[in-house]
This record gives sequence, structure tokens and C-alpha cells, in this order.
Amino acid sequence: MPERWRVFPKAIRLGRATTEDIGPDRLAFYRRLVGDIYRGDVTVEPSQTIYLSMSQLRTSARQVFDRLIADVPRSMGPDEGIAVLVDVTESPPELISEPVAAHVGEAIGTLLLTDPGRQVVVMMPALRTRLQRSFRRVVGADRQAHMTIQYDNGSRVRVSADQAEDQPIHPSDADYTKQLQRLNQPIEDRLGGKILRRLGHFQFGTSTEHCTRYFFDASYAVQEVSQLTKDLVLEEKRSSTAPLVIMSHQTHSPWLTEVATEVAQRLGIPHFGLPTEGDVENVPNSGDALLLLDVVNTGNTTKALIKRVRQRGLNVRQTILAVFVDRERLGTGQNSYKMVAENSTYWIRSIANPIERLKRKRVRCEQCILGIEPTDPRSSQPGIRSFDMWEILLAHKWVPERYGPGDSDNTQPGPRRFSLVPDFVRIFKEYGDWIAFKLDEMLTTMRTGGAGVEEAVYVCPAEPAMDTLTDLLRARHGARPVPVKIPRPILRDAERGDFSTLEQERDVGWGGQLSDLAKSNSYSVVLIDEFNGSNTTALSMLKVLQRFDITATAYLPVINLNPGSALRLPSGLEVPVCPLYEIPAPRALGPAPLDETGNR
Ligand SMILES: [Zn+2]
Repeated sequence: MPERWRVFPKAIRLGRATTEDIGPDRLAFYRRLVGDIYRGDVTVEPSQTIYLSMSQLRTSARQVFDRLIADVPRSMGPDEGIAVLVDVTESPPELISEPVAAHVGEAIGTLLLTDPGRQVVVMMPALRTRLQRSFRRVVGADRQAHMTIQYDNGSRVRVSADQAEDQPIHPSDADYTKQLQRLNQPIEDRLGGKILRRLGHFQFGTSTEHCTRYFFDASYAVQEVSQLTKDLVLEEKRSSTAPLVIMSHQTHSPWLTEVATEVAQRLGIPHFGLPTEGDVENVPNSGDALLLLDVVNTGNTTKALIKRVRQRGLNVRQTILAVFVDRERLGTGQNSYKMVAENSTYWIRSIANPIERLKRKRVRCEQCILGIEPTDPRSSQPGIRSFDMWEILLAHKWVPERYGPGDSDNTQPGPRRFSLVPDFVRIFKEYGDWIAFKLDEMLTTMRTGGAGVEEAVYVCPAEPAMDTLTDLLRARHGARPVPVKIPRPILRDAERGDFSTLEQERDVGWGGQLSDLAKSNSYSVVLIDEFNGSNTTALSMLKVLQRFDITATAYLPVINLNPGSALRLPSGLEVPVCPLYEIPAPRALGPAPLDETGNR
């Protein structure tokens, strides 16, 4: 097998009327999938989707064949393989008709026959179609050619031309299904998963009477916001008779400039960023201005902007786009609301789903009463503030500790269970996006001048709360590496120095992920967990990693109940502990368990 792979994506969207760029999250998904199947270094070529409109499907479905075989180069030699990735998971299954499936199968056969250095992977729903039959017919049973089909339930088969039956090569995989569903969900929902709701104490626009608990940050969702904005700007462009310019304004959202620039370039419309104060200079003094704002709070800033732009001589379009608008303003089921300014009526049109900033009167706000001043949302300190942590911890009823170190039935000695612990599953469902951001932020703070969080692989116990948290991490960073979840029985065995089951699982699931990590030196490995009571789980994770010759760079528990301790293995390996929050001595305990070197 070649050591390097170039992937040529062929994403087929049946029933669509236009082509679009394939987004970076999707390209990263393809890269991981092809890497998982063929190993080696994988690069994915930027590409556009292949579309067939409803009428083309009726009259000229054969076009799918032509588009699949177009623009695929030949392999350059034994070191570099060409992988064609055919993705039909974005097409409604009912449109994957028999003729379409047959054309796809025929195109794949043709691609393989014309260059044996190519490989083909098909991502498709688990449907019975004529794809395989048509592929086998084109290639012929006397030739050695095969393709790989990856079904949406995560299972994988190898389809060989010289064999009548498909061979299963990978079992179904719930994690794959989850990732694919996220990738294929409507853009508004995907945007929702990428918006970061920061918890804290913030100024509410220009208001001196109000403050707010949340700040909404779309810096991870520039792609989604740009796409939605582009469609809305296009409508405005079509109905504007005068030359149109985009004028954007933000105070705490530098990402808005990226959105505006992207949309302006795409549509060939000039863009100007408006300063918060001062004259509107260096902009045209006639034509139509479309205002694009990050958020509308009190509306005062928007009204002042309208006035300034009109004074400059431009006509402000009646529709004003704002990425975030509070639900309170919009009313149920509405995505815009009316604003009167300068004797004219405007409509504030929300781009993302409505937000809830929880505006409070400062005289009634607990934090203001305590003398905690509202902060600039752009300044964020690593770790979680006490006020926020305790609100989170007390938001839901505490529950008995159900999982963790020691045997589930407590028949074998291990650290004692806590009688009650915070309900981390519920906590992560509600605040997980922000907590996940805080973990990434802590990591970035620790790594001075190092690579971004995209190069960090999180390792954690395979338990319900951490599942929720790692899902949220990946919703925001589609391109980041998959977290490795180590099953609790493996950690319990490691605690006792028993690695027999680990050795059996070295090449499957979590074990396979760690084996791959050990071979790659481009990632740093970081341990995470919901809370650290006695270092037991963290030490077990370290021992497991050591069996794979992997060294962790840090341990980031959300809460550390064991402040001041270091993680040390007998080998002398020491890993820094960097919690998001520390609570010393939360309960009366017997002597703390000794760690491996005899320290408490
Ligand atoms: Zn306040």
C-alpha cells in the first residue's frame, strides 16, 4: 500500500440546483475516513459538490457518470495512491434511484479499470441498490478490482469484482453514525452546535442599567454564518437597483469581519467595516448600504449607525442583518422585528436562531450586588470562576456516584465512592459547550507558542458524562482528532497492574486508536476527566498510555478535589495537573490513598 494518499472527493447532492464548495469539516471527515481505511499520510483536494437537479434526474441521470469520472488524475507511482471518495450521504435516499445507483457503480468500475493505482471508497446509506451489480458487470469477474463501501451505520464492506458477495470488513460503529449525522444536519442546527455560549458577567450593549449572564460567540462558526449570510445578502442584491455595499459593525466579535469579507468576495460586493465612533470615512457617498451586525441588544447602537450612514449620503436597506438577536425581541416563531429610526421603518433580521442572554437589572443582579463588575467578553481568564462553578454545580440535584475507580459492586478494594456527586451528565448537557471551550483554553494557555488545540488528542474514561462533553467538543471543532475513551474495566485492571485484556484489545477500537497515536508524532496527548478525587483514574490512564509508549503532556480535570498533588509514576514520569476549578478537602476521609511512589 502507498504511504501517501491524495483524496478526490465526489460529493453527490441529488435534487439540488447548484454546486457548492465542500466545507472544511467535511473534507476533514473524508481525510480521517480514508486514513482509517488505508493508513498513511492523507491529503484531501478541495472540491465542489456534484449536483443533479430534479429535472436532470428525470431526463439526464447519466450526467452523474460523467461528473464522477471527470478530473481524477492517474496515480504518480507506488508511493502515492489516489483515492476517489464518492459520498452520497447528502442525497435523500428516495432520490438514489436504481438508474442513479447503476451509473455510480459503472463510473467506479471505469475509474478503477483506467488506472489500477486508484482506490474508491463510497459513503452511502445502508440501502440495497444496483451499485455493486453494475460495478461487477463493468469490471468483469476475471479482473482484480475492488471498492470499499462505508455505510451510514459505520459498517464497512469490500466489494470485489471477482466475488459475488460483499465481504464485511468493519462492524457497525455508533460513533461514526453520530459524526455523519452531525455533518449532514441542516446548517442552522450545525451552526447552533458551534456557537459558544460563554457564562460570566457581561455588559449589555451600551446599557448602564442592565448586565447579562451570557455572551454568544460565533468565532467557531464563521463558515456556517457566512453561508447563511450569503443567501440573505443575495436576496438583497437582487432587489436593489442602486449599487450595493455591505457595511459591517461589531464591538466584541472580530469574527464578523471574516464573515463580511467572505460574503463580499463571493458575491462581488464591496465591504466596509464601520468604526463604533467617529466619522464614516473612505466609503462611497451614494448607493445602497446593507448593514450587517454581530448582535442587537438595546438597539441604540443600530440607530446611531443608521443615522451616520444616512448622513454620509447612502440609503440604508430596510433589512438589517444581525447574527444574534434576543428571543425576547423577536417574539415566538419570528426571525425579524421592526425598528423605527430616522423616521423610517427597518426590519432587524436574525441570522442564527434566537439567543437568550438573560438580561438583568444591575440592581437585582447577584454579581453586581456582590461588587463583581461586568467584564469585557473578549477578556477571558483560564479556569472557571467560583461564582460560575457553584451555579453550575448547584443547578441540578446531586446523585450517588455510580461509576469511577474501584469495582462497580465494591467487592474489591478501591477508593471509596462519594455518597453524592454533581450530576455531570446533566451539567455537561447544559454547560458542556462552555466547559469544553474552557478545557481547550486551559490547554492553549499551558502550551506557550505550541500548536493549536487541533493537534491535541484528549484521552478520558469511557463514561456517560465524558461522552457528552467530548461530543460537544467535536461539534465545534469538526476537524480535531477523535478523543480516545478507555473502558473502565481496562482502567481497573491497570490499577492492579493487570494488562492482559489491554493486550488483547491493542488493535481494536480504543486500543487501535492508541496504537495509531503511538506511531504518529504530530499529536500531543492530554488526559481529561470530570473530577479528580484521588488521582486513581488519572494514574490508571497514564499506565495504559505507557503500555503504548505514549506520554501525556497534561491532566485537565474539570474539578480537582486533590489540590497540590502531582501525577507521578514509578518510572519518574510526572504529569502536570491543571484543573478548571479546585475544591480542597470536600469531605472527611481516612488517610488519602498513597500514589505509586508513596506520596499522598
Ligand atoms: Zn450584574
